[in-house]
Amino acid sequence: MNLADYFDHAATTPVHPDVLAAMMPFFHDLPGNSQSIHQWGLAAHEAVEEARDQVAWAIGAEDPSQIIFTSGATESNNWILRNMPTLAVSRLEHSSLRVAGEVLARPTLRNEGYVVEAAPLSSVMAVNNETGGVVVAENAQDLHVDATQAIGKVPWQVGQVAWASMSAHKIGGPKGVGVLYVRDGYLEPMLIGGGHERGQRAGTANVPGIVGMGIAMIRAATLQGEAFAHASTLRQIVMDELRSVSDFVVHEAPVQSPFILSVGFEKVVGEALVVELDIAGFAISSGAACSSSSTELSPVLSALGVPDSLNRGTVRISFGESNTPESAQQLGRRLAEAVEKVRGMGPNRPRPATSAGL
Ligand code: PMP
Repeated sequence: MNLADYFDHAATTPVHPDVLAAMMPFFHDLPGNSQSIHQWGLAAHEAVEEARDQVAWAIGAEDPSQIIFTSGATESNNWILRNMPTLAVSRLEHSSLRVAGEVLARPTLRNEGYVVEAAPLSSVMAVNNETGGVVVAENAQDLHVDATQAIGKVPWQVGQVAWASMSAHKIGGPKGVGVLYVRDGYLEPMLIGGGHERGQRAGTANVPGIVGMGIAMIRAATLQGEAFAHASTLRQIVMDELRSVSDFVVHEAPVQSPFILSVGFEKVVGEALVVELDIAGFAISSGAACSSSSTELSPVLSALGVPDSLNRGTVRISFGESNTPESAQQLGRRLAEAVEKVRGMGPNRPRPATSAGL
Protein backbone atom coordinates (compact mmCIF):
# COMPACT_ATOMS: atom_id res chain seq x y z
CA MET A 1 0.00 0.00 0.00
CA ASN A 2 1.29 3.40 -1.03
CA LEU A 3 0.10 6.59 0.70
CA ALA A 4 0.04 8.43 -2.64
CA ASP A 5 -2.79 6.06 -3.65
CA TYR A 6 -4.86 6.84 -0.56
CA PHE A 7 -7.77 9.00 -1.75
CA ASP A 8 -10.00 8.83 1.33
CA HIS A 9 -8.80 11.90 3.24
CA ALA A 10 -12.35 13.00 4.06
CA ALA A 11 -12.66 9.79 6.09
CA THR A 12 -9.36 10.28 7.87
CA THR A 13 -5.79 11.41 7.21
CA PRO A 14 -2.33 10.13 8.14
CA VAL A 15 -0.79 11.88 11.13
CA HIS A 16 1.77 14.37 9.84
CA PRO A 17 5.35 13.64 11.02
CA ASP A 18 5.62 17.09 12.70
CA VAL A 19 2.43 16.37 14.61
CA LEU A 20 3.66 12.93 15.64
CA ALA A 21 7.00 14.37 16.80
CA ALA A 22 5.23 16.91 19.02
CA MET A 23 3.02 14.20 20.52
CA MET A 24 5.70 11.60 21.26
CA PRO A 25 7.09 12.97 24.58
CA PHE A 26 3.62 12.90 26.10
CA PHE A 27 3.23 9.16 25.60
CA HIS A 28 6.20 8.21 27.77
CA ASP A 29 8.64 10.82 29.02
CA LEU A 30 5.99 13.30 30.19
CA PRO A 31 3.10 11.10 31.35
CA GLY A 32 1.46 13.60 33.74
CA ASN A 33 -2.26 14.08 34.21
CA SER A 34 -2.93 17.72 33.35
CA GLN A 35 -4.94 18.03 36.60
CA SER A 36 -2.09 16.91 38.88
CA ILE A 37 -0.28 19.59 40.86
CA HIS A 38 3.24 18.13 40.67
CA GLN A 39 5.71 19.12 37.97
CA TRP A 40 4.61 16.28 35.68
CA GLY A 41 1.05 17.49 35.88
CA LEU A 42 2.17 21.04 35.31
CA ALA A 43 4.11 20.08 32.17
CA ALA A 44 1.01 18.34 30.80
CA HIS A 45 -1.20 21.27 31.79
CA GLU A 46 1.09 23.74 30.05
CA ALA A 47 1.12 21.62 26.90
CA VAL A 48 -2.69 21.48 26.86
CA GLU A 49 -2.95 25.25 27.34
CA GLU A 50 -0.44 25.87 24.57
CA ALA A 51 -2.56 23.70 22.26
CA ARG A 52 -5.65 25.67 23.31
CA ASP A 53 -3.88 28.89 22.30
CA GLN A 54 -2.89 27.32 18.97
CA VAL A 55 -6.45 26.20 18.16
CA ALA A 56 -7.84 29.61 19.16
CA TRP A 57 -5.34 31.32 16.86
CA ALA A 58 -6.06 28.95 13.96
CA ILE A 59 -9.82 29.62 13.98
CA GLY A 60 -9.68 33.29 14.95
CA ALA A 61 -11.30 32.80 18.38
CA GLU A 62 -11.11 35.82 20.67
CA ASP A 63 -10.03 33.89 23.73
CA PRO A 64 -8.53 30.41 24.31
CA SER A 65 -11.14 29.79 27.03
CA GLN A 66 -13.68 29.41 24.18
CA ILE A 67 -11.96 26.16 23.14
CA ILE A 68 -13.09 22.93 24.81
CA PHE A 69 -11.26 19.73 23.89
CA THR A 70 -13.46 16.71 23.17
CA SER A 71 -12.98 13.24 21.71
CA GLY A 72 -13.84 14.46 18.19
CA ALA A 73 -16.48 16.17 16.13
CA THR A 74 -19.07 13.47 16.89
CA GLU A 75 -18.90 14.30 20.59
CA SER A 76 -18.89 18.05 19.91
CA ASN A 77 -21.96 17.69 17.67
CA ASN A 78 -23.82 15.43 20.10
CA TRP A 79 -23.00 17.78 22.96
CA ILE A 80 -24.38 20.90 21.35
CA LEU A 81 -27.48 19.02 20.23
CA ARG A 82 -28.18 17.79 23.76
CA ASN A 83 -27.81 21.32 25.11
CA MET A 84 -30.09 23.06 22.63
CA PRO A 85 -33.56 21.52 22.53
CA THR A 86 -34.65 24.00 19.86
CA LEU A 87 -31.67 23.53 17.57
CA ALA A 88 -32.84 22.81 14.02
CA VAL A 89 -30.60 20.45 12.06
CA SER A 90 -30.06 20.64 8.32
CA ARG A 91 -30.74 17.56 6.20
CA LEU A 92 -27.20 17.69 4.86
CA GLU A 93 -25.52 17.19 8.24
CA HIS A 94 -23.14 14.42 9.21
CA SER A 95 -24.87 11.50 10.95
CA SER A 96 -23.56 12.72 14.33
CA LEU A 97 -26.05 15.58 13.98
CA ARG A 98 -28.65 14.30 11.53
CA VAL A 99 -29.22 10.87 13.08
CA ALA A 100 -28.65 12.17 16.61
CA GLY A 101 -31.16 14.95 15.80
CA GLU A 102 -33.72 12.37 14.70
CA VAL A 103 -33.19 10.35 17.89
CA LEU A 104 -33.56 13.48 20.02
CA ALA A 105 -36.47 14.66 17.83
CA ARG A 106 -35.07 18.01 16.76
CA PRO A 107 -36.70 20.15 14.06
CA THR A 108 -35.24 19.77 10.56
CA LEU A 109 -34.03 22.63 8.40
CA ARG A 110 -35.06 22.66 4.78
CA ASN A 111 -32.38 22.87 2.15
CA GLU A 112 -32.72 24.32 -1.31
CA GLY A 113 -29.87 22.78 -3.19
CA TYR A 114 -26.93 23.66 -1.05
CA VAL A 115 -28.34 26.81 0.48
CA VAL A 116 -29.74 25.82 3.83
CA GLU A 117 -32.46 27.96 5.26
CA ALA A 118 -31.21 29.40 8.53
CA ALA A 119 -33.35 29.50 11.67
CA PRO A 120 -32.44 31.55 14.75
CA LEU A 121 -30.94 28.43 16.34
CA SER A 122 -29.70 26.05 13.73
CA SER A 123 -26.91 23.65 12.95
CA VAL A 124 -25.43 23.85 9.48
CA MET A 125 -22.15 22.41 8.30
CA ALA A 126 -19.46 24.55 6.67
CA VAL A 127 -18.51 21.96 4.02
CA ASN A 128 -20.47 18.81 3.28
CA ASN A 129 -18.47 15.64 3.91
CA GLU A 130 -20.10 13.66 1.09
CA THR A 131 -19.98 16.17 -1.76
CA GLY A 132 -17.56 18.91 -0.66
CA GLY A 133 -20.29 21.48 -1.25
CA VAL A 134 -19.76 24.64 0.77
CA VAL A 135 -22.98 25.00 2.73
CA VAL A 136 -22.47 28.01 4.99
CA ALA A 137 -20.33 30.95 4.12
CA GLU A 138 -17.69 32.38 6.42
CA ASN A 139 -19.94 35.17 7.60
CA ALA A 140 -22.57 32.89 9.19
CA GLN A 141 -24.01 34.23 12.44
CA ASP A 142 -25.37 32.72 15.64
CA LEU A 143 -25.36 29.17 14.32
CA HIS A 144 -23.75 25.94 15.27
CA VAL A 145 -21.31 25.16 12.46
CA ASP A 146 -19.78 21.75 11.90
CA ALA A 147 -16.46 22.92 10.46
CA THR A 148 -14.87 19.45 10.35
CA GLN A 149 -14.42 19.39 6.56
CA ALA A 150 -13.61 23.12 6.28
CA ILE A 151 -10.59 23.51 8.55
CA GLY A 152 -7.38 23.77 6.53
CA LYS A 153 -9.35 23.34 3.31
CA VAL A 154 -11.37 26.46 2.63
CA PRO A 155 -10.95 29.83 4.35
CA TRP A 156 -12.87 29.45 7.60
CA GLN A 157 -12.81 31.37 10.88
CA VAL A 158 -15.34 31.35 13.70
CA GLY A 159 -16.44 34.93 13.05
CA GLN A 160 -19.91 35.38 14.51
CA VAL A 161 -20.90 31.74 14.92
CA ALA A 162 -22.10 30.68 18.35
CA TRP A 163 -20.60 27.17 18.41
CA ALA A 164 -18.37 25.16 16.12
CA SER A 165 -17.24 21.53 15.97
CA MET A 166 -13.98 20.25 14.52
CA SER A 167 -11.79 17.20 14.54
CA ALA A 168 -8.02 16.60 14.46
CA HIS A 169 -7.89 13.47 12.33
CA LYS A 170 -9.17 15.18 9.17
CA ILE A 171 -6.19 17.55 9.13
CA GLY A 172 -3.13 15.39 9.79
CA GLY A 173 -3.82 15.11 13.51
CA PRO A 174 -4.58 12.05 15.62
CA LYS A 175 -7.92 10.25 15.84
CA GLY A 176 -10.04 10.64 18.96
CA VAL A 177 -9.58 14.35 19.64
CA GLY A 178 -11.60 17.37 18.61
CA VAL A 179 -12.88 20.72 19.76
CA LEU A 180 -16.13 22.42 20.54
CA TYR A 181 -15.81 26.19 20.20
CA VAL A 182 -18.23 28.03 22.49
CA ARG A 183 -18.48 31.77 21.84
CA ASP A 184 -20.00 32.49 25.23
CA GLY A 185 -22.21 30.98 27.88
CA TYR A 186 -22.16 27.71 29.73
CA LEU A 187 -23.00 24.26 28.41
CA GLU A 188 -24.38 21.51 30.63
CA PRO A 189 -21.62 18.90 30.67
CA MET A 190 -22.39 15.70 28.80
CA LEU A 191 -19.58 13.81 30.53
CA ILE A 192 -19.82 14.25 34.28
CA GLY A 193 -17.06 13.44 36.76
CA GLY A 194 -13.81 15.31 37.45
CA GLY A 195 -13.16 18.99 36.92
CA HIS A 196 -11.37 18.79 33.59
CA GLU A 197 -11.86 21.49 30.96
CA ARG A 198 -13.02 23.93 33.68
CA GLY A 199 -15.67 21.50 34.84
CA GLN A 200 -17.29 21.38 31.41
CA ARG A 201 -16.04 17.97 30.25
CA ALA A 202 -14.90 15.32 32.69
CA GLY A 203 -12.31 12.70 31.83
CA THR A 204 -8.51 12.71 31.95
CA ALA A 205 -7.36 14.95 29.13
CA ASN A 206 -5.93 13.17 26.09
CA VAL A 207 -2.68 15.12 26.40
CA PRO A 208 -0.77 13.65 23.41
CA GLY A 209 -3.88 13.96 21.25
CA ILE A 210 -4.52 17.55 22.29
CA VAL A 211 -0.88 18.49 21.67
CA GLY A 212 -1.16 16.87 18.23
CA MET A 213 -4.36 18.75 17.49
CA GLY A 214 -2.70 22.07 18.33
CA ILE A 215 0.10 21.50 15.84
CA ALA A 216 -2.28 20.10 13.21
CA MET A 217 -4.48 23.21 13.52
CA ILE A 218 -1.49 25.54 13.15
CA ARG A 219 -0.39 23.64 10.03
CA ALA A 220 -3.94 23.62 8.65
CA ALA A 221 -4.39 27.37 9.04
CA THR A 222 -0.91 28.24 7.75
CA LEU A 223 -0.96 25.93 4.73
CA GLN A 224 -4.64 26.24 3.73
CA GLY A 225 -3.97 28.19 0.52
CA GLU A 226 -1.28 25.77 -0.63
CA ALA A 227 -3.40 22.74 0.21
CA PHE A 228 -6.36 24.23 -1.70
CA ALA A 229 -4.24 24.70 -4.82
CA HIS A 230 -2.85 21.14 -4.55
CA ALA A 231 -6.34 19.62 -4.17
CA SER A 232 -7.71 21.72 -7.08
CA THR A 233 -4.98 20.40 -9.39
CA LEU A 234 -5.56 16.78 -8.40
CA ARG A 235 -9.34 17.05 -8.69
CA GLN A 236 -9.06 18.42 -12.20
CA ILE A 237 -6.66 15.62 -13.20
CA VAL A 238 -9.13 12.95 -12.06
CA MET A 239 -12.03 14.70 -13.81
CA ASP A 240 -10.02 14.90 -17.04
CA GLU A 241 -9.39 11.15 -16.91
CA LEU A 242 -13.15 10.51 -16.69
CA ARG A 243 -13.80 12.22 -20.05
CA SER A 244 -14.12 8.89 -21.84
CA VAL A 245 -16.86 7.67 -19.48
CA SER A 246 -20.56 8.16 -20.27
CA ASP A 247 -23.57 8.72 -18.02
CA PHE A 248 -22.16 10.23 -14.87
CA VAL A 249 -22.75 13.34 -12.83
CA VAL A 250 -20.34 15.26 -10.58
CA HIS A 251 -22.26 16.29 -7.47
CA GLU A 252 -21.13 19.89 -7.19
CA ALA A 253 -22.25 23.01 -5.37
CA PRO A 254 -21.97 26.59 -6.63
CA VAL A 255 -19.14 26.99 -4.12
CA GLN A 256 -17.15 23.81 -3.92
CA SER A 257 -14.30 22.43 -1.80
CA PRO A 258 -11.73 20.92 -4.18
CA PHE A 259 -10.80 18.32 -1.56
CA ILE A 260 -13.82 16.17 -2.43
CA LEU A 261 -14.89 14.80 -5.79
CA SER A 262 -18.25 13.07 -5.58
CA VAL A 263 -19.27 11.33 -8.78
CA GLY A 264 -22.46 9.37 -9.45
CA PHE A 265 -22.31 6.81 -12.27
CA GLU A 266 -25.43 5.35 -13.84
CA LYS A 267 -25.75 1.55 -14.05
CA VAL A 268 -23.17 0.74 -11.37
CA VAL A 269 -23.16 0.26 -7.61
CA GLY A 270 -20.63 2.50 -5.86
CA GLU A 271 -19.33 -0.32 -3.64
CA ALA A 272 -18.35 -2.36 -6.71
CA LEU A 273 -16.14 0.53 -7.84
CA VAL A 274 -14.62 0.84 -4.37
CA VAL A 275 -13.72 -2.86 -4.48
CA GLU A 276 -12.29 -2.65 -8.01
CA LEU A 277 -10.15 0.35 -7.02
CA ASP A 278 -9.07 -1.39 -3.83
CA ILE A 279 -7.81 -4.34 -5.85
CA ALA A 280 -5.80 -1.85 -7.92
CA GLY A 281 -4.31 -0.39 -4.69
CA PHE A 282 -6.41 2.79 -4.42
CA ALA A 283 -8.58 3.84 -1.49
CA ILE A 284 -11.79 5.71 -2.28
CA SER A 285 -15.18 5.55 -0.63
CA SER A 286 -18.80 5.14 -1.54
CA GLY A 287 -20.74 8.00 0.01
CA ALA A 288 -19.67 8.79 3.55
CA ALA A 289 -17.15 6.42 5.12
CA CYS A 290 -19.18 6.23 8.30
CA SER A 291 -22.01 4.54 6.43
CA SER A 292 -20.11 3.04 3.53
CA SER A 293 -20.33 -0.50 4.86
CA SER A 294 -24.04 -0.39 4.14
CA THR A 295 -25.44 -0.40 0.63
CA GLU A 296 -28.26 1.95 1.59
CA LEU A 297 -28.79 5.13 -0.36
CA SER A 298 -27.16 8.24 1.04
CA PRO A 299 -29.86 10.35 2.72
CA VAL A 300 -27.73 13.43 2.11
CA LEU A 301 -27.60 12.87 -1.66
CA SER A 302 -31.33 12.15 -1.63
CA ALA A 303 -31.92 15.43 0.22
CA LEU A 304 -29.94 17.14 -2.53
CA GLY A 305 -32.30 15.68 -5.11
CA VAL A 306 -29.92 13.09 -6.55
CA PRO A 307 -31.98 10.31 -8.20
CA ASP A 308 -31.65 6.83 -6.66
CA SER A 309 -29.80 5.33 -9.63
CA LEU A 310 -27.04 7.95 -9.40
CA ASN A 311 -27.08 7.89 -5.61
CA ARG A 312 -26.39 4.14 -5.65
CA GLY A 313 -23.56 4.61 -8.14
CA THR A 314 -21.80 7.42 -6.25
CA VAL A 315 -18.20 7.30 -5.10
CA ARG A 316 -16.27 9.88 -3.12
CA ILE A 317 -12.64 10.66 -3.89
CA SER A 318 -11.00 12.91 -1.31
CA PHE A 319 -7.60 14.50 -1.70
CA GLY A 320 -4.78 15.27 0.69
CA GLU A 321 -1.12 16.06 1.11
CA SER A 322 0.09 12.55 0.26
CA ASN A 323 -1.49 12.45 -3.22
CA THR A 324 0.50 13.39 -6.33
CA PRO A 325 -0.52 14.40 -9.87
CA GLU A 326 0.75 10.98 -11.06
CA SER A 327 -1.31 9.04 -8.51
CA ALA A 328 -4.37 11.17 -9.33
CA GLN A 329 -3.98 10.38 -13.02
CA GLN A 330 -3.63 6.67 -12.34
CA LEU A 331 -6.67 6.76 -10.08
CA GLY A 332 -8.74 8.50 -12.77
CA ARG A 333 -7.70 5.90 -15.36
CA ARG A 334 -8.43 2.99 -13.07
CA LEU A 335 -11.80 4.45 -12.14
CA ALA A 336 -12.78 4.88 -15.79
CA GLU A 337 -11.76 1.26 -16.45
CA ALA A 338 -13.61 0.03 -13.38
CA VAL A 339 -16.84 1.73 -14.49
CA GLU A 340 -16.61 0.06 -17.92
CA LYS A 341 -15.84 -3.31 -16.34
CA VAL A 342 -18.62 -3.19 -13.75
CA ARG A 343 -21.13 -1.97 -16.33
CA GLY A 344 -20.09 -4.87 -18.54
CA MET A 345 -20.91 -7.27 -15.74
CA GLY A 346 -24.28 -5.70 -14.93
CA PRO A 347 -27.79 -6.79 -15.91
CA ASN A 348 -27.81 -4.30 -18.81
CA ARG A 349 -25.06 -5.98 -20.83
CA PRO A 350 -26.18 -7.56 -24.12
CA ARG A 351 -27.12 -11.19 -23.59
CA PRO A 352 -25.09 -13.72 -25.54
CA ALA A 353 -26.98 -15.65 -28.20
CA THR A 354 -28.30 -19.04 -27.13
CA SER A 355 -28.91 -22.06 -29.27
CA ALA A 356 -31.91 -23.11 -27.18
CA GLY A 357 -34.23 -20.69 -28.94
CA LEU A 358 -34.96 -18.75 -25.71
N1 PMP B 1 -18.72 16.03 10.95
C1 PMP B 1 -18.25 15.87 9.71
C2 PMP B 1 -18.66 16.85 8.65
C3 PMP B 1 -17.40 14.81 9.41
O1 PMP B 1 -16.93 14.65 8.16
C4 PMP B 1 -17.04 13.90 10.44
C5 PMP B 1 -16.13 12.72 10.17
N2 PMP B 1 -16.60 11.87 9.16
C6 PMP B 1 -17.55 14.11 11.72
C7 PMP B 1 -18.38 15.18 11.93
C8 PMP B 1 -17.20 13.20 12.86
O2 PMP B 1 -15.90 13.45 13.30
P1 PMP B 1 -15.14 12.48 14.29
O3 PMP B 1 -14.63 11.36 13.48
O4 PMP B 1 -14.05 13.33 14.87
O5 PMP B 1 -16.10 12.06 15.35
